[in-house]
Amino acid sequence: MRAIRRFTVRPVLPEALASLGVLAGNLRWSWHPPTQDVFEAVDPALWESTGRDPVRLLGAVEARRLEELAGDGAFVERLEAARRDLDTYLAGDHWYQRRSGADAPRSVAYFSPEYGITAVLPQYSGGLGILAGDHLKAASDLGVPLVGVGLLYRHGYFKQSLSQEGWQQETYPVLDPDELPLSLLHEADGSRAMVRITIDNDAELAARIWVAQVGRVPLLLLDTDVEENPDHFRAVTDRLYGGTTEHRLRQELLLGVGGVRALRAYSRITGAPDPEVFHTNEGHAGFLGLERIRELSVAEKGPKLDFDTALEVSRASTVFTTHTPVPAGIDRFPRELVEQYFGGASPVPGVPVDRILALGAEDYDGGDRGVFNMAVMGFRLAQRANGVSQLHGHVSREMFNGLWPAFDEAEVPIGSITNGVHAPTWVGREVFELASGHGADADHTDADAFWGVVDKVPGQEVWATKRKLRERLVVDARKRLARSWAKRGSAPAELSWIDSALDPDVLTIGFARRVPSYKRLTLMLSDPERLKRMLLHPERPIQLIIAGKAHPADEGGKRLIQEMVRFADDPEVRHRIAFLPNYDIAMALPLYPGCDVWLNNPLRPYEACGTSGMKAALNGGLNLSILDGWWDEWYDGSNGWAIPSADGVEDPDRRDDLEATALYDLIENEVAPRFYDVGPDGVPARWLEMVRHTLKSLGPKVLATRMVRDYVRQLYTPAAVTGRSLNSDYTGAADLAAWKKRVRGGWPEVRVEHVESSGVGDAPEIGTVLSVRAFVSLGALSPEDVDVQLVHGVIDSEDQLVNAATESLAVSETYQGGRHRFDGTVSLARSGAFGYTVRVIPKNALLASPAELGVIALPS
Ligand SMILES: *Cc1c(COP(=O)(O)O)cnc(C)c1O
Repeated sequence: MRAIRRFTVRPVLPEALASLGVLAGNLRWSWHPPTQDVFEAVDPALWESTGRDPVRLLGAVEARRLEELAGDGAFVERLEAARRDLDTYLAGDHWYQRRSGADAPRSVAYFSPEYGITAVLPQYSGGLGILAGDHLKAASDLGVPLVGVGLLYRHGYFKQSLSQEGWQQETYPVLDPDELPLSLLHEADGSRAMVRITIDNDAELAARIWVAQVGRVPLLLLDTDVEENPDHFRAVTDRLYGGTTEHRLRQELLLGVGGVRALRAYSRITGAPDPEVFHTNEGHAGFLGLERIRELSVAEKGPKLDFDTALEVSRASTVFTTHTPVPAGIDRFPRELVEQYFGGASPVPGVPVDRILALGAEDYDGGDRGVFNMAVMGFRLAQRANGVSQLHGHVSREMFNGLWPAFDEAEVPIGSITNGVHAPTWVGREVFELASGHGADADHTDADAFWGVVDKVPGQEVWATKRKLRERLVVDARKRLARSWAKRGSAPAELSWIDSALDPDVLTIGFARRVPSYKRLTLMLSDPERLKRMLLHPERPIQLIIAGKAHPADEGGKRLIQEMVRFADDPEVRHRIAFLPNYDIAMALPLYPGCDVWLNNPLRPYEACGTSGMKAALNGGLNLSILDGWWDEWYDGSNGWAIPSADGVEDPDRRDDLEATALYDLIENEVAPRFYDVGPDGVPARWLEMVRHTLKSLGPKVLATRMVRDYVRQLYTPAAVTGRSLNSDYTGAADLAAWKKRVRGGWPEVRVEHVESSGVGDAPEIGTVLSVRAFVSLGALSPEDVDVQLVHGVIDSEDQLVNAATESLAVSETYQGGRHRFDGTVSLARSGAFGYTVRVIPKNALLASPAELGVIALPS
């Protein structure tokens, strides 16, 4: 019989155990093993069967057991110690309070379409979500006053299983918010706090606001599954990355526009400070900028600025991070659809639709005039933007150069901050314990102490720990295999082979990720016979653990999975290669520590950053990867292996073959021999040398705390400073908007007319001083509006300046008709071919980049 309604009765905890409820209500438990131990002690069997989920555990534990625990002094003492630890964590001063400086923002709002925080809150599909989760956790550890904003998807992302034939099956279990670690935001009068936006020709979409507490960081999640919505509106937050284009647009409107309204409600109700900086994590959340413009230009209580002034205010305090160099991964909508949604009764009433359409227009060479591009809007609505590794920054500057066509790629205003991972979440407990046993501070957040002991731990201990981790992974993988084979229709009697599948003493290579084509799941199958020989090698076998989900609409990805599963089904090799269905955080936690080698073979340069290899490295795993994303930046020749990529080989099959062969060669000739080169003490010394070097060289860099500090210093604080100088009475913003208009209007008159130089003679040498005089016509603009620069440096064979430096020239004479002379000198510092030119660019202290207006004047 099917129930017509369900609800969840929350447990009543005995007073002595009230702290259990407090601990379960803050997701900090998910990266704090001592708190997990407390939950485990409540009922070890239930802890496992609920998937290590404190809320479900407390919902399921018997009242009798709770009474028993309430009377158990030792337990209560442990519980209270964990509670005190949480209180200290939440209240204390951390890095931000001590080190970030007076200019740092009072509060930062972080918008993301997905969050991967813990397996028990499955609101993520892959890397973007995991990164957002790690960003919140690291911000919490550092004391950064961040507020997250996202959507609560009723089905989250899908669960993956396999059919008998190895075809991906998707299911969408219903998530009951009452069983999730969330609380509903209420108004002071006890009613639900609601957000409403107008969509779809005057209909109102309502959403309630859930709060997940991520350590010190609140995460607001909007949920449209409320009675007052008609059914098709209730379904707006049904699932992550599913449904039609229009469905996705509605979700993004809710996330961006509704998200800002949720933040306002949260501040109003709790007294939290209004955010000074808004971080748009990927284009999906970009509509937040439109709502902020509405607040500033048309809202009743707002200052009623004109559109351009409002745009300056909101841009100044907005940071945009782009996450993909794959063109198909960029979020685009048909222009008419956007026009339809903003043209009539708009979610941001009063904001002109033509201005909105212009923000997302691909109105540059090679652009598609029929689409509205969320990344393009992201760049136009944010004064500061970045990619997520140095290589990705470079690729993004090329990809979006069309928005700043007058500038060379190097000056396109997109920087980079390389992603990081949250060590307390991803580093195996045993690894921390090994380090603290040798003097590292047991406090997991003190990473420096951790690197300091890497050389002190004896090899035998490191190796014994690695074996333990490998064994734990093998045990977990066998359970997953058994479940999967049972689901695929095998009888228990057929499955006895699984008891000895995989081997805790065999070199273990992990490969787990989403399955878009550029990640090349099946590259390792290029030569199946050769792979088989490697798996079955009599002295130096390898074993492979593979996982990954294909997007439900990606038939190609599902075919790759099937190909992989069929290979792994072969009785000859199935004890050495396993495809584990349903890659998620729960699987990932034992997977990274258990692997000796982490394999990544994307098609360069499509992996924007990648983070799984970082998690492996922090657990003493060695990376074996194409030089893409973060690995391109930090591979140093001895912290792992680089698979040579055949960039420039046009034929994709040939390129795959070349790279696969290089991969096989590396494993056979370098990786496996080193792993199995074990000394009389039972330890592979040369392997451990690489492990230690990996921990020391990569450890400090790959941390999410390093990443969040970079964001605070390089983006959040400068954005807060510019934002404040524009906001105090908005005259700064109005002036800036008027100045931009004047400079853009006057720019056609700006010309470098004539350049003279002296001092170089026939035989310039190092130290020779070059003097330059530039005669420049500025029309109606004044010398204060511009920077006249001498651009100089090494030139290539085509007279292109490479790595040019710039020197500002000073105005020395003014003539009639807006003409001026600018002078300056430069001392030649390098031998070899040298060249220079003069250019004029707009100058204003409130610009974040000289390319911001996109205009430049060069000698004709
Ligand atoms: C880290 C992680 C990812 C992202 O890995 P990439 O290397 O960025 O592809 C995806 N899913 C899970 C479960 C993860 O833990």
